[in-house]
Amino acid sequence: MTFKPANHIQDLQYFGEFGGVNPSISDSSTYTFLSAKTMFDTFEGNADGCYLYTRHSSPSNLYLGEALAAMEGTETANVTASGMGAITAVLLQLCGNNDHIVSSRTIYGGTYAFLKNFTPRFNIKTSFVDITNLAAVEASITKNTKVLYCEAVSNPLLEVADIKSLAALAKKHNLKLVVDNTFSPLSISPAILGVDVVIHSLTKFINGSSDTVGGVVCGTQEFINDLRNVNTGAAMLLGATMDSLRAASILKNLRTLHIRMQQHSKNALYLAEKFQAIGLKTVYPGLSSHPSHQAYKNMMNEDYGFGGLLTVDAGSAEKANALMELMQHKNLGYLAVSLGFYKTLFSAPSSSTSSEIPVDEQKEMGLTDGLIRFSIGLDSDIERSFETMKACMMEVGIL
Ligand SMILES: *Cc1c(COP(=O)(O)O)cnc(C)c1O
Repeated sequence: MTFKPANHIQDLQYFGEFGGVNPSISDSSTYTFLSAKTMFDTFEGNADGCYLYTRHSSPSNLYLGEALAAMEGTETANVTASGMGAITAVLLQLCGNNDHIVSSRTIYGGTYAFLKNFTPRFNIKTSFVDITNLAAVEASITKNTKVLYCEAVSNPLLEVADIKSLAALAKKHNLKLVVDNTFSPLSISPAILGVDVVIHSLTKFINGSSDTVGGVVCGTQEFINDLRNVNTGAAMLLGATMDSLRAASILKNLRTLHIRMQQHSKNALYLAEKFQAIGLKTVYPGLSSHPSHQAYKNMMNEDYGFGGLLTVDAGSAEKANALMELMQHKNLGYLAVSLGFYKTLFSAPSSSTSSEIPVDEQKEMGLTDGLIRFSIGLDSDIERSFETMKACMMEVGIL
């Protein structure tokens, strides 16, 4: 695969006022017009390059959106106040009364809760399926299905979607394929593989400093225009708009994403191999023992590795909790949800980020009580981190 997403970000050139090397931040919610006619035209979407009101668009948000579109290889993008702000707007834009969604059953807890508990209010129904079972995916498509939804690498089980095959299926049945690529930025380029709409929570790897929430929708100009339409656009009318100051700070962090992802992936692969070798039940897409290792390899942009997330099964909730508390005590990382930080973060999804999923469904999908999700940090001495983790595991009786 020859797509070079980091180059596309690097090659953008925006100057600020006064020749600044960073684009100026637009610190205004509303914009003046020299003529009333131009204001009217802007409202109607017929005055390119004019700004009206920041919920519609702002220069800072457009700069960030264009950089993310360049990264994903889509025509354009729309940034939002959070990842959920992107996901909810896209699904409500694409679906209405009586429509049906086929979704992977292993998805972010908030997305799961939205589809399970909230969208039924609009008479939108969702079937949750094993996304790695293409026959099951196809069998659950009905005449009302509008959207096929999944994560490129799923939270928290790290299942890998076969995006090319899903894109072919979506095309065959005239569905929109929507993929959340939060776990695998740069590593997987879903739009290049045939996906219609790519979503990220910018909160995680892309911003990388755990200081803000943010989201983005990457897609065609036509779809992004629909989302922003003043009369019918879900992004516009639901109002999850990113603040311009945040957009500017996320854009600056985005420029080092390629270096960070390489280090996250290198460290995660090192630990996954070591954990597996000492007999821990370890899941990481970069291990040949992962059921979708080859599928991931076939679609990845090789430079960025298999990502920073891995899971280890500690055997029970008690052992998982004891280990996480001890690891935090030894300053190996933080007992915290979220991911993509410079420090390693760990949590037990069953009782935290996936607690929206009922216990029996957790069991069915293989989400155990003792499962620990690690977001591996940027440690420059990962060998030392491993040795200390191993000592913690022995102390709590996992090894
Ligand atoms: C965190 C996360 C989200 C939600 O993003 P927010 O920025 O918290 O709204 C969605 N999908 C995945 C895979 C996530 O990890």
